[in-house]
Amino acid sequence: MDLNVKNVCTLLLAVYHCERHTSVTTATIPPFKMALNLLVPPPKIEDREYVKPYLCGSGPADVWPSVFEAYARKVTTPASDEYYHVLDDIRSGLQYVFQTKSKLVLAISGAGHAAMEAVITNLVAPGETLLVACRGMWDERAIEIAKRFGINVEVTRIPLYSTFSHEHLENELKRLRPTALCITHGDSSTGNVQKMQGLGDICHKYGTLLIVDTVVSLGGVPFLTDEWGIDGVFSSTQKALSGPAGISPVAFSARAEEKINKRKHEPPFYFDIKMLAQQWNCYGNTRVYHHTMSPPLLYALRACIKELVSQTLEKSWARHATTLAHFHKRLQEMPVTFYVPIPEERLPTVTTLVLPKRYDYTEFCDYMRTKHNILIYGGVGPTAGKILRIGTMGMNATIEMADIVADAILDTLKALNKSSL
Ligand SMILES: *Cc1c(COP(=O)(O)O)cnc(C)c1O
Repeated sequence: MDLNVKNVCTLLLAVYHCERHTSVTTATIPPFKMALNLLVPPPKIEDREYVKPYLCGSGPADVWPSVFEAYARKVTTPASDEYYHVLDDIRSGLQYVFQTKSKLVLAISGAGHAAMEAVITNLVAPGETLLVACRGMWDERAIEIAKRFGINVEVTRIPLYSTFSHEHLENELKRLRPTALCITHGDSSTGNVQKMQGLGDICHKYGTLLIVDTVVSLGGVPFLTDEWGIDGVFSSTQKALSGPAGISPVAFSARAEEKINKRKHEPPFYFDIKMLAQQWNCYGNTRVYHHTMSPPLLYALRACIKELVSQTLEKSWARHATTLAHFHKRLQEMPVTFYVPIPEERLPTVTTLVLPKRYDYTEFCDYMRTKHNILIYGGVGPTAGKILRIGTMGMNATIEMADIVADAILDTLKALNKSSL
C-alpha cells in the first residue's frame, strides 16, 4: 500500500467524514480499496482545568524543576551513543545513591511494583522459600507477587506500628532456612523505619539472601547497601527522589549475582536481570536490545540522581531529618497522636497520625485538599480508615513546606471540630 501525501489526505478526509456522520460506519477508504467498519467514533478529548495540589501524601511527591526540564530534552534513541552515556550516568549515580560497588545496578521500566517483582522473581525460584517480614501494605504485595510466581511463601507478622527485632527474624531464619528474606525499610503504609544494620550478616549465616524495599526511603533515609550486606534492593523515583513514576532502580550484591548466574528457573521475560544487564551494559559494551525504554523517564531519573549528587546523600538525609523534627514539634502542639509510638522508629519521609475519634479521615483529607490545596492521604490496606499519611520528602522536605502543611492541619482540626471544646 502506498501511503503518499495524497492518500493520507484522502484517508483523513474519510475519517473526518465518518466523524461528521457517525451513523455512517462503513466507508470505502480509497488507498485500502475495501470497506472498513469503524464501530467506534472518535471520542471528544478536551483539556480540563486542573490545579495541581502540593503533593504531600505518601507519594508521588512533587517533582524537582530540573527533573521537569529533563523530560523535555530531545528524545535520544538506542541508535545513539548519547543513549548509552545516559545509562552509564544512571548506573554510576545509582551506585552512589544505593552505596554499592556492585556492577549489577540498573533501573526497571515500570513503577516500584515492577522492581519488586523483578528482584523477587530473579532471586527466588518457584518452589523455593521466601520469608516475608510483614508489617504493612507493601509486604502484602511482596507475598502476592511471590505466590503468583509459585514461590513457597512464609510470613511472619508483628503489629503494624512496630518494627522487627533482629532476634525475632533470626529465630524465623533458623527455623525456615529460606532462600531469601524480604523486608521493607521505610513503610509508607504505617510510617515506620526498620533497623537494617546487621541483618545482612544474620541472613547470610543461614544461607539466606536479604531483599529490601527502599521505595519510600532511598535518598531520604540513610541506606548503605554494601555496608549492611543487602543482596537485592529496589526503589522508585516518585517518592524521596522527587521524580515521575515509571522507572525504578534495583541493585544486586555479588551473592545475588551468583544466584542469578547459576539459577535454573526463568524469571518473567520482561524482568530478566541477565538480559537487562546486557541492555544496560553492566558488564561492558554489550548494547543488547531487550525492550524499548522510555527516554524521557531515563532523563528524568538521571536528573533526580543529579539533584542528589549535587546536594550529597548526607545533606539530603539531614534535610529530611531536620524537616521531620520541625514538623513533629509542630504536630505535638495539636490534638493528634503519632501512630508509631517509638520516636526513633518514625519514618523521616512519611508521618502517620491518629486523629481524635470525632474526626473523619476522608473528610479531613478532602478539607485539606479543597481549602488548602494540599494533598495528604488516609490509610491504605491494613491502615485504611485508621490513620493520616503525610509526606515530607524529596523537594517537599523543607521547613517552609512543613510549616505550610502544619498550619493547614491546625486549621482543618479547628474547622472540622464538631465537639464543643
Ligand atoms: C509506594 C510504595 C511502593 C509501591 O510503589 P509503586 O511505584 O506505586 O509501585 C512499594 N513499597 C513502598 C515502601 C512504597 O512506599
